[in-house]
Amino acid sequence: MCARSQYALHLEVRLLECPPGTRLEHVEWRYPALDRWFVRLRRDPGGSHSRALQSRDRSGGPTSRVHQAARRSSHPQDCPGAQGPSGGVNGVVDGTSARRIGIDVGGTNALGVAISSDGRIVAEDRRPTPRGDDSLRCLLDVLVELSESLGYEGSLGVGVPGLVTRKGVLRAAPHLDGVADFEVGRLIAERLGSHVEIENDATCAAIAEWKLGAAVGVDDMILITLGTGIGGGMVANGSVLRGSNGFAGEFGHMVVDPNGPRCPCGRQGCWERYASGSGLAMLARNAGFGVDNDGEARIGGADQNSVQGEHVQSAARQGDSAALVVIDEFCRWVALGLSNLTNAFDPEMFVLGGGLADGADLYLEPITRWFRELLYQPHLRPLPRVEFAKWGPQAGAVGAALLPSLSLTERPSTGI
Ligand SMILES: [Zn+2]
Repeated sequence: MCARSQYALHLEVRLLECPPGTRLEHVEWRYPALDRWFVRLRRDPGGSHSRALQSRDRSGGPTSRVHQAARRSSHPQDCPGAQGPSGGVNGVVDGTSARRIGIDVGGTNALGVAISSDGRIVAEDRRPTPRGDDSLRCLLDVLVELSESLGYEGSLGVGVPGLVTRKGVLRAAPHLDGVADFEVGRLIAERLGSHVEIENDATCAAIAEWKLGAAVGVDDMILITLGTGIGGGMVANGSVLRGSNGFAGEFGHMVVDPNGPRCPCGRQGCWERYASGSGLAMLARNAGFGVDNDGEARIGGADQNSVQGEHVQSAARQGDSAALVVIDEFCRWVALGLSNLTNAFDPEMFVLGGGLADGADLYLEPITRWFRELLYQPHLRPLPRVEFAKWGPQAGAVGAALLPSLSLTERPSTGI
Protein backbone atom coordinates (compact mmCIF):
# COMPACT_ATOMS: atom_id res chain seq x y z
CA MET A 1 0.00 0.00 0.00
CA CYS A 2 1.36 3.39 -0.90
CA ALA A 3 1.64 6.00 1.81
CA ARG A 4 0.73 9.56 0.97
CA SER A 5 3.58 12.00 1.03
CA GLN A 6 3.63 14.15 4.10
CA TYR A 7 5.00 17.05 2.07
CA ALA A 8 2.90 19.32 -0.05
CA LEU A 9 4.77 20.54 -3.13
CA HIS A 10 4.71 24.14 -4.23
CA LEU A 11 5.96 24.48 -7.80
CA GLU A 12 6.58 27.65 -9.71
CA VAL A 13 8.04 27.82 -13.22
CA ARG A 14 9.16 30.93 -14.99
CA LEU A 15 11.04 31.58 -18.22
CA LEU A 16 13.49 34.47 -17.95
CA GLU A 17 15.11 36.58 -20.63
CA CYS A 18 17.70 34.57 -22.54
CA PRO A 19 20.71 35.29 -24.73
CA PRO A 20 19.98 34.53 -28.39
CA GLY A 21 20.03 30.83 -29.09
CA THR A 22 19.76 29.79 -25.48
CA ARG A 23 16.97 28.84 -23.18
CA LEU A 24 17.25 29.70 -19.52
CA GLU A 25 14.67 27.93 -17.48
CA HIS A 26 14.12 29.04 -13.92
CA VAL A 27 12.24 26.56 -11.78
CA GLU A 28 11.51 27.08 -8.13
CA TRP A 29 9.88 24.70 -5.73
CA ARG A 30 9.47 24.55 -2.03
CA TYR A 31 8.84 21.88 0.57
CA PRO A 32 6.76 23.66 3.24
CA ALA A 33 7.85 21.19 5.90
CA LEU A 34 11.48 22.17 5.27
CA ASP A 35 10.59 25.79 4.60
CA ARG A 36 13.32 25.92 2.00
CA TRP A 37 13.28 26.95 -1.64
CA PHE A 38 15.11 25.11 -4.34
CA VAL A 39 16.12 26.64 -7.66
CA ARG A 40 16.98 24.93 -10.90
CA LEU A 41 18.53 26.67 -13.89
CA ARG A 42 18.93 25.20 -17.32
CA ARG A 43 20.96 26.72 -20.13
CA ASP A 44 20.57 25.00 -23.43
CA PRO A 45 22.96 26.35 -26.08
CA GLY A 46 22.60 23.97 -28.96
CA GLY A 47 21.87 20.90 -26.93
CA SER A 48 24.33 21.13 -24.04
CA HIS A 49 22.77 21.45 -20.65
CA SER A 50 23.56 23.40 -17.58
CA ARG A 51 21.82 22.72 -14.35
CA ALA A 52 22.06 24.26 -10.95
CA LEU A 53 20.31 23.32 -7.78
CA GLN A 54 20.42 25.55 -4.78
CA SER A 55 18.25 26.36 -1.80
CA ARG A 56 17.16 29.76 -0.59
CA ASP A 57 16.40 30.88 2.86
CA ARG A 58 12.89 31.02 4.24
CA SER A 59 12.53 34.67 3.38
CA GLY A 60 12.26 33.73 -0.27
CA GLY A 61 14.59 36.67 -0.78
CA PRO A 62 16.65 37.69 -3.73
CA THR A 63 17.41 35.35 -6.53
CA SER A 64 20.24 32.98 -5.71
CA ARG A 65 23.86 33.75 -6.40
CA VAL A 66 23.92 30.77 -8.73
CA HIS A 67 21.25 32.45 -10.76
CA GLN A 68 23.13 35.74 -10.82
CA ALA A 69 26.32 34.00 -11.82
CA ALA A 70 24.59 32.23 -14.67
CA ARG A 71 23.40 35.55 -16.00
CA ARG A 72 26.84 37.12 -15.71
CA SER A 73 28.62 34.24 -17.33
CA SER A 74 29.67 34.84 -20.92
CA HIS A 75 30.14 31.22 -21.99
CA PRO A 76 32.76 32.00 -24.66
CA GLN A 77 31.71 30.21 -27.79
CA ASP A 78 35.31 29.46 -28.79
CA CYS A 79 35.99 27.56 -25.55
CA PRO A 80 34.11 24.27 -25.76
CA GLY A 81 34.87 23.42 -22.16
CA ALA A 82 33.33 26.66 -20.92
CA GLN A 83 30.01 26.44 -22.71
CA GLY A 84 28.20 24.80 -19.88
CA PRO A 85 28.58 22.02 -17.39
CA SER A 86 28.39 18.41 -18.35
CA GLY A 87 27.85 17.12 -14.88
CA GLY A 88 25.46 19.66 -13.41
CA VAL A 89 25.29 20.99 -9.89
CA ASN A 90 24.08 18.83 -7.08
CA GLY A 91 23.64 19.61 -3.46
CA VAL A 92 21.82 21.94 -1.16
CA VAL A 93 23.49 25.19 -0.25
CA ASP A 94 22.96 26.41 3.25
CA GLY A 95 22.75 30.15 2.72
CA THR A 96 23.97 30.88 6.25
CA SER A 97 27.31 29.08 5.85
CA ALA A 98 30.45 30.67 4.51
CA ARG A 99 31.24 28.90 1.28
CA ARG A 100 34.72 27.93 0.28
CA ILE A 101 35.17 26.90 -3.31
CA GLY A 102 37.68 24.30 -4.44
CA ILE A 103 38.33 23.15 -8.00
CA ASP A 104 40.34 20.10 -9.00
CA VAL A 105 41.54 20.27 -12.60
CA GLY A 106 41.82 16.76 -13.94
CA GLY A 107 42.83 15.51 -17.33
CA THR A 108 39.19 15.00 -18.35
CA ASN A 109 37.09 17.22 -16.11
CA ALA A 110 37.45 20.15 -13.77
CA LEU A 111 35.45 19.31 -10.64
CA GLY A 112 34.34 22.09 -8.34
CA VAL A 113 32.84 21.86 -4.87
CA ALA A 114 31.57 24.35 -2.35
CA ILE A 115 32.05 23.34 1.25
CA SER A 116 30.44 24.79 4.34
CA SER A 117 32.26 25.98 7.42
CA ASP A 118 31.87 22.54 9.00
CA GLY A 119 33.41 20.76 6.02
CA ARG A 120 30.32 19.46 4.26
CA ILE A 121 30.05 19.55 0.48
CA VAL A 122 27.07 21.77 -0.18
CA ALA A 123 27.31 22.07 -3.96
CA GLU A 124 29.21 20.41 -6.77
CA ASP A 125 29.71 21.18 -10.43
CA ARG A 126 32.03 20.15 -13.23
CA ARG A 127 33.15 21.17 -16.70
CA PRO A 128 35.21 19.36 -19.34
CA THR A 129 38.88 20.29 -19.13
CA PRO A 130 39.68 22.28 -22.30
CA ARG A 131 42.13 20.68 -24.67
CA GLY A 132 44.00 21.75 -27.76
CA ASP A 133 44.83 25.23 -29.00
CA ASP A 134 44.04 28.03 -26.61
CA SER A 135 43.15 25.53 -23.93
CA LEU A 136 44.84 27.51 -21.15
CA ARG A 137 42.82 30.66 -21.79
CA CYS A 138 39.71 28.50 -21.93
CA LEU A 139 40.75 26.83 -18.67
CA LEU A 140 40.72 30.26 -17.00
CA ASP A 141 37.17 30.74 -18.29
CA VAL A 142 36.20 27.35 -16.90
CA LEU A 143 37.66 28.18 -13.48
CA VAL A 144 35.88 31.52 -13.31
CA GLU A 145 32.60 30.05 -14.46
CA LEU A 146 32.77 27.16 -12.01
CA SER A 147 33.58 29.54 -9.17
CA GLU A 148 30.59 31.70 -9.96
CA SER A 149 28.23 28.80 -10.48
CA LEU A 150 29.14 27.52 -7.02
CA GLY A 151 28.55 30.88 -5.34
CA TYR A 152 32.05 32.33 -5.09
CA GLU A 153 32.36 34.58 -2.05
CA GLY A 154 36.08 35.36 -2.12
CA SER A 155 37.57 32.02 -1.10
CA LEU A 156 38.93 29.86 -3.90
CA GLY A 157 41.60 27.19 -4.09
CA VAL A 158 42.56 25.30 -7.23
CA GLY A 159 44.34 21.97 -7.52
CA VAL A 160 46.21 21.32 -10.73
CA PRO A 161 48.14 18.30 -11.96
CA GLY A 162 51.84 18.93 -12.30
CA LEU A 163 54.63 21.00 -10.85
CA VAL A 164 53.28 24.11 -9.13
CA THR A 165 55.58 26.75 -7.68
CA ARG A 166 54.98 28.54 -4.40
CA LYS A 167 53.86 31.54 -6.46
CA GLY A 168 51.07 29.59 -8.12
CA VAL A 169 52.88 29.10 -11.44
CA LEU A 170 52.26 25.80 -13.19
CA ARG A 171 55.67 24.87 -14.58
CA ALA A 172 54.64 21.63 -16.26
CA ALA A 173 51.51 19.50 -16.45
CA PRO A 174 51.64 16.29 -18.48
CA HIS A 175 47.86 16.04 -18.82
CA LEU A 176 47.19 19.65 -19.86
CA ASP A 177 48.02 21.02 -23.29
CA GLY A 178 50.57 23.78 -23.79
CA VAL A 179 51.60 24.34 -20.18
CA ALA A 180 54.91 26.15 -19.71
CA ASP A 181 55.19 28.57 -16.81
CA PHE A 182 51.46 29.14 -16.79
CA GLU A 183 50.75 31.83 -14.19
CA VAL A 184 47.39 30.42 -13.31
CA GLY A 185 47.34 31.90 -9.79
CA ARG A 186 47.92 35.47 -10.90
CA LEU A 187 45.61 35.26 -13.90
CA ILE A 188 42.69 33.84 -11.93
CA ALA A 189 43.20 36.37 -9.17
CA GLU A 190 43.00 39.17 -11.76
CA ARG A 191 39.78 37.77 -13.15
CA LEU A 192 38.12 37.34 -9.77
CA GLY A 193 39.61 40.38 -8.09
CA SER A 194 40.97 38.59 -5.06
CA HIS A 195 43.64 36.18 -3.95
CA VAL A 196 43.47 32.56 -5.15
CA GLU A 197 45.49 29.64 -3.83
CA ILE A 198 46.98 27.17 -6.32
CA GLU A 199 48.41 23.80 -5.36
CA ASN A 200 49.35 20.43 -6.78
CA ASP A 201 46.27 18.21 -6.96
CA ALA A 202 47.69 15.35 -4.90
CA THR A 203 48.80 17.77 -2.21
CA CYS A 204 45.20 19.01 -2.16
CA ALA A 205 43.99 15.44 -1.68
CA ALA A 206 46.43 15.06 1.21
CA ILE A 207 45.02 18.20 2.82
CA ALA A 208 41.48 16.84 2.47
CA GLU A 209 42.42 13.61 4.26
CA TRP A 210 44.45 15.47 6.89
CA LYS A 211 41.77 18.00 7.75
CA LEU A 212 38.55 16.13 7.02
CA GLY A 213 39.36 12.51 6.26
CA ALA A 214 41.31 9.47 7.39
CA ALA A 215 44.24 11.39 8.92
CA VAL A 216 42.50 13.94 11.11
CA GLY A 217 44.74 14.76 14.06
CA VAL A 218 47.83 13.14 12.52
CA ASP A 219 50.84 15.49 12.35
CA ASP A 220 53.01 13.29 10.11
CA MET A 221 51.18 11.66 7.25
CA ILE A 222 51.74 10.83 3.61
CA LEU A 223 49.00 10.45 1.04
CA ILE A 224 49.64 8.30 -1.99
CA THR A 225 47.20 8.37 -4.90
CA LEU A 226 47.28 5.09 -6.78
CA GLY A 227 45.74 5.86 -10.14
CA THR A 228 47.04 5.59 -13.69
CA GLY A 229 50.24 6.94 -12.14
CA ILE A 230 51.17 7.84 -8.57
CA GLY A 231 50.70 11.21 -6.91
CA GLY A 232 51.61 12.21 -3.43
CA GLY A 233 51.22 14.83 -0.75
CA MET A 234 52.65 15.09 2.71
CA VAL A 235 52.17 16.66 6.10
CA ALA A 236 55.27 16.84 8.31
CA ASN A 237 55.32 18.19 11.86
CA GLY A 238 51.79 19.46 11.38
CA SER A 239 52.50 21.46 8.22
CA VAL A 240 52.03 20.77 4.54
CA LEU A 241 55.41 19.92 3.04
CA ARG A 242 55.93 21.73 -0.22
CA GLY A 243 59.71 21.82 -0.67
CA SER A 244 61.93 24.70 -1.72
CA ASN A 245 60.31 24.98 -5.15
CA GLY A 246 56.87 23.69 -4.24
CA PHE A 247 57.46 20.39 -6.02
CA ALA A 248 57.57 18.00 -3.04
CA GLY A 249 55.49 14.84 -3.25
CA GLU A 250 56.48 13.41 -6.62
CA PHE A 251 56.88 10.03 -4.96
CA GLY A 252 55.85 8.13 -8.08
CA HIS A 253 59.17 8.95 -9.70
CA MET A 254 61.35 7.39 -7.02
CA VAL A 255 63.44 4.89 -8.94
CA VAL A 256 62.95 1.43 -7.47
CA ASP A 257 64.52 -0.53 -10.35
CA PRO A 258 67.16 1.22 -12.51
CA ASN A 259 66.75 -1.46 -15.15
CA GLY A 260 62.96 -1.39 -15.08
CA PRO A 261 60.51 -0.23 -17.72
CA ARG A 262 60.81 3.23 -19.20
CA CYS A 263 58.80 5.95 -17.49
CA PRO A 264 57.29 8.97 -19.28
CA CYS A 265 59.60 11.11 -17.13
CA GLY A 266 62.50 9.71 -19.15
CA ARG A 267 64.05 7.40 -16.60
CA GLN A 268 63.63 3.70 -15.92
CA GLY A 269 62.00 1.79 -13.11
CA CYS A 270 60.09 4.58 -11.39
CA TRP A 271 57.81 3.42 -8.57
CA GLU A 272 54.69 4.31 -10.54
CA ARG A 273 55.68 1.92 -13.32
CA TYR A 274 54.92 -0.89 -10.83
CA ALA A 275 52.63 0.38 -8.08
CA SER A 276 49.93 2.15 -10.10
CA GLY A 277 46.96 1.04 -12.15
CA SER A 278 49.10 0.81 -15.26
CA GLY A 279 51.72 -1.03 -13.18
CA LEU A 280 49.15 -3.59 -12.07
CA ALA A 281 48.20 -4.21 -15.70
CA MET A 282 51.87 -4.60 -16.65
CA LEU A 283 52.48 -7.07 -13.85
CA ALA A 284 49.43 -9.04 -14.97
CA ARG A 285 50.64 -9.21 -18.55
CA ASN A 286 54.14 -10.18 -17.48
CA ALA A 287 52.66 -13.00 -15.40
CA GLY A 288 50.64 -14.28 -18.33
CA PHE A 289 47.40 -13.48 -16.57
CA GLY A 290 44.36 -13.79 -18.79
CA VAL A 291 45.91 -16.22 -21.26
CA ASP A 292 44.91 -19.86 -21.61
CA ASN A 293 47.45 -22.66 -21.78
CA ASP A 294 47.14 -22.59 -25.54
CA GLY A 295 47.98 -18.88 -25.62
CA GLU A 296 44.47 -17.64 -26.32
CA ALA A 297 43.34 -14.54 -24.45
CA ARG A 298 40.47 -15.32 -22.10
CA ILE A 299 40.15 -11.97 -20.32
CA GLY A 300 40.10 -8.44 -21.60
CA GLY A 301 39.32 -8.94 -25.26
CA ALA A 302 41.23 -10.04 -28.30
CA ASP A 303 44.77 -9.97 -26.97
CA GLN A 304 46.61 -9.93 -23.71
CA ASN A 305 47.67 -6.31 -24.10
CA SER A 306 44.08 -5.32 -23.36
CA VAL A 307 44.25 -6.78 -19.84
CA GLN A 308 43.65 -3.97 -17.36
CA GLY A 309 43.89 -3.69 -13.61
CA GLU A 310 40.14 -4.00 -13.19
CA HIS A 311 40.23 -7.41 -14.88
CA VAL A 312 42.72 -8.56 -12.27
CA GLN A 313 40.63 -7.11 -9.44
CA SER A 314 37.47 -8.76 -10.69
CA ALA A 315 39.12 -12.16 -11.08
CA ALA A 316 40.78 -11.89 -7.66
CA ARG A 317 37.43 -11.26 -6.00
CA GLN A 318 36.20 -14.48 -7.56
CA GLY A 319 39.14 -16.37 -6.07
CA ASP A 320 41.20 -16.70 -9.28
CA SER A 321 44.58 -17.92 -8.01
CA ALA A 322 46.57 -16.33 -10.86
CA ALA A 323 44.93 -12.98 -10.17
CA LEU A 324 45.69 -13.25 -6.46
CA VAL A 325 49.36 -13.89 -7.24
CA VAL A 326 49.44 -10.74 -9.37
CA ILE A 327 47.72 -8.75 -6.61
CA ASP A 328 50.29 -9.97 -4.11
CA GLU A 329 53.16 -8.95 -6.38
CA PHE A 330 51.57 -5.56 -6.94
CA CYS A 331 51.20 -5.04 -3.18
CA ARG A 332 54.87 -5.89 -2.66
CA TRP A 333 55.78 -3.02 -5.01
CA VAL A 334 53.42 -0.68 -3.17
CA ALA A 335 54.95 -1.70 0.16
CA LEU A 336 58.48 -1.24 -1.17
CA GLY A 337 57.71 2.41 -1.86
CA LEU A 338 56.08 2.85 1.52
CA SER A 339 59.16 1.43 3.23
CA ASN A 340 61.42 3.81 1.28
CA LEU A 341 59.25 6.76 2.25
CA THR A 342 59.27 5.62 5.86
CA ASN A 343 63.06 5.59 5.84
CA ALA A 344 63.05 9.14 4.49
CA PHE A 345 60.25 10.75 6.48
CA ASP A 346 59.22 8.46 9.38
CA PRO A 347 55.47 9.14 9.04
CA GLU A 348 52.85 8.05 11.52
CA MET A 349 50.40 7.13 8.79
CA PHE A 350 49.98 6.47 5.08
CA VAL A 351 46.66 7.18 3.39
CA LEU A 352 46.13 5.42 0.06
CA GLY A 353 43.75 7.08 -2.38
CA GLY A 354 43.16 7.28 -6.12
CA GLY A 355 41.26 4.94 -8.37
CA LEU A 356 42.75 1.77 -6.91
CA ALA A 357 41.27 2.64 -3.50
CA ASP A 358 38.20 0.81 -4.81
CA GLY A 359 40.17 -2.38 -4.25
CA ALA A 360 41.01 -1.70 -0.61
CA ASP A 361 39.51 -5.05 0.40
CA LEU A 362 42.02 -6.81 -1.86
CA TYR A 363 45.10 -4.75 -1.15
CA LEU A 364 45.19 -3.80 2.50
CA GLU A 365 46.26 -7.13 3.99
CA PRO A 366 49.03 -7.94 1.52
CA ILE A 367 50.34 -4.36 1.53
CA THR A 368 50.54 -4.40 5.32
CA ARG A 369 52.17 -7.83 5.35
CA TRP A 370 54.84 -6.83 2.80
CA PHE A 371 55.33 -3.45 4.48
CA ARG A 372 56.10 -5.16 7.78
CA GLU A 373 58.60 -7.43 6.02
CA LEU A 374 60.35 -4.65 4.08
CA LEU A 375 60.46 -2.00 6.80
CA TYR A 376 63.89 -1.07 8.09
CA GLN A 377 64.38 -1.80 11.81
CA PRO A 378 60.76 -2.90 12.38
CA HIS A 379 61.55 -4.02 15.92
CA LEU A 380 62.49 -0.48 16.89
CA ARG A 381 59.34 1.30 15.72
CA PRO A 382 55.63 0.75 15.35
CA LEU A 383 54.54 0.02 11.80
CA PRO A 384 53.10 3.20 10.31
CA ARG A 385 49.36 2.88 9.93
CA VAL A 386 48.13 2.19 6.40
CA GLU A 387 44.54 3.13 5.62
CA PHE A 388 42.58 3.89 2.51
CA ALA A 389 41.27 7.38 1.87
CA LYS A 390 37.86 8.49 3.09
CA TRP A 391 37.40 10.92 0.23
CA GLY A 392 36.94 9.56 -3.26
CA PRO A 393 37.12 11.55 -6.49
CA GLN A 394 36.22 14.74 -4.62
CA ALA A 395 39.37 14.70 -2.49
CA GLY A 396 41.36 17.12 -4.64
CA ALA A 397 38.55 19.66 -4.86
CA VAL A 398 37.82 19.47 -1.13
CA GLY A 399 41.49 19.96 -0.28
CA ALA A 400 41.69 22.86 -2.73
CA ALA A 401 38.76 24.51 -0.98
CA LEU A 402 40.67 24.29 2.30
CA LEU A 403 43.83 25.94 0.94
CA PRO A 404 42.93 29.54 1.78
CA SER A 405 42.10 28.64 5.36
CA LEU A 406 45.44 27.01 6.09
CA SER A 407 47.53 29.23 8.32
CA LEU A 408 50.66 30.90 7.04
CA THR A 409 52.70 28.49 9.15
CA GLU A 410 51.06 25.58 7.37
CA ARG A 411 51.36 26.99 3.91
CA PRO A 412 53.25 30.09 2.75
CA SER A 413 51.15 32.56 0.81
CA THR A 414 51.52 32.45 -2.95
CA GLY A 415 50.94 36.17 -3.39
CA ILE A 416 49.26 37.58 -6.47
ZN1 LIG B 1 59.31 8.52 -13.72
